[in-house]
Amino acid sequence: MSINLDSWRSLPAAQQPEWPDRGALEQVVTKLQGLPPLVFAGECDNLKAELAAVTRGEAFVLQGGDCAETFAGATADAVRNKLKTLLQMAIVLTYAAKVPVVKIGRMAGQFAKPRSKGTETRAGVELPAYRGDMVNGLDFTPEARIPDPERLVQAYHSSAVTLNLIRAFTKGGYADLRQVHAWNQDFVAESPAGKRYEQLAREIDQALAFMRACGADPEEFHTVEFYSSHEALILDYDQALTRIDSRTGLPYDVSAHMVWIGERTRQLGNAHVEFFASIRNPIGVKLGPTTSVDDALALIDKLNPDNEPGRLSFITRMGAPKIRKHLPELVEKVTASGAQVAWICDPMHGNTFEAPSGHKTRRLDDVLDEVAGFFEVHRALGTHPGGIHIEFTGDDVTECVGGGQEIVEGDLALRYETACDPRLNRGQSLDLAFRVAELYRS
Ligand code: PEP
Ligand code: MN
Repeated sequence: MSINLDSWRSLPAAQQPEWPDRGALEQVVTKLQGLPPLVFAGECDNLKAELAAVTRGEAFVLQGGDCAETFAGATADAVRNKLKTLLQMAIVLTYAAKVPVVKIGRMAGQFAKPRSKGTETRAGVELPAYRGDMVNGLDFTPEARIPDPERLVQAYHSSAVTLNLIRAFTKGGYADLRQVHAWNQDFVAESPAGKRYEQLAREIDQALAFMRACGADPEEFHTVEFYSSHEALILDYDQALTRIDSRTGLPYDVSAHMVWIGERTRQLGNAHVEFFASIRNPIGVKLGPTTSVDDALALIDKLNPDNEPGRLSFITRMGAPKIRKHLPELVEKVTASGAQVAWICDPMHGNTFEAPSGHKTRRLDDVLDEVAGFFEVHRALGTHPGGIHIEFTGDDVTECVGGGQEIVEGDLALRYETACDPRLNRGQSLDLAFRVAELYRS
């Protein structure tokens, strides 16, 4: 079988940088093509099998991380804090909701951003928008905002560093269940969510002690499977990291285990959908409130023609006021078509607004309300609420309002550090996990 990975090139591609020098881009692509894979195709297949369990209603996805990772943010502390928060959330879900949790980071590759506006204006000065560290710089200067293809190579190396840390943390003892208290140590005293978590960790300790006394100490208690994902936006990058798997002879994007198509690039007949149809990774597509049933069915036909469970996840991001109105018909008709998809809720991107201070923010209450709506819709239809997709950080930032620590709009300036959209901080993330566990159980 001949495999054509270039078919997207003749189609319109939205949100691609205007590289000033095509020759420089081509050199970078050649360099990337010669670099080792970041993940193995077999690992992508393992994730696909776990997502197939989600599709069958037997597991739950927890996918999250920064809106935009930065090169400067790939430090041991920042990566550990994100991982720790995600592990704590996963523990809450596994223990309180009694469901296996598939853990996927928006990590080790989430370096490119689609923008609704091509430029940004500050104090009367207009410059090209920031498109993620993979493309240009965040600094508000004309030089920083020029797309630089060398950044694609930096994105690869930054992904490699992050993934290496993640692999060491998750396989080297840090993710061992006996660490449930340790993950919380710096957190418990000052926050309601931390205290609530501590109670649960004590119960887990008891259960583990009982299991050990019975002679049971399975491998699953000592390491976790953790997968990487990003929005595959810059097609030159993701194609350069697409390789033919020696076991199967099929192409996999080995820059991450899972990749997704954003709300702004999911047009049928366009380049992103075409490229995604050619790779064999598990993939996601973001679906906003304007998605029609026909759009969803056509995406399924194009992206999962063999109806393979685990291959395709729909990540809905409707907004709290809209989800109960727009989601039911989509889920109902897709289900009636017999299509195998996992339904994941992104309760962040439909709930962004600008605070009076000018900060882009989100209310935790809106996030929780969209998640509640997601569960209501799936419960009413008898379908499986398959997971959540969130933007969070392990640091105590003040980017979203609400939560146990009661961050208000006036606090946003205190620690507003995101390179793009506002993220839940650690306490807000745990608040969300406890709420999701309650919704899952009920
Ligand atoms: C994102 O996930 O950061 C994003 C841009 O989302 P969406 O494509 O849903 O707008
Ligand atoms: Mn975002």
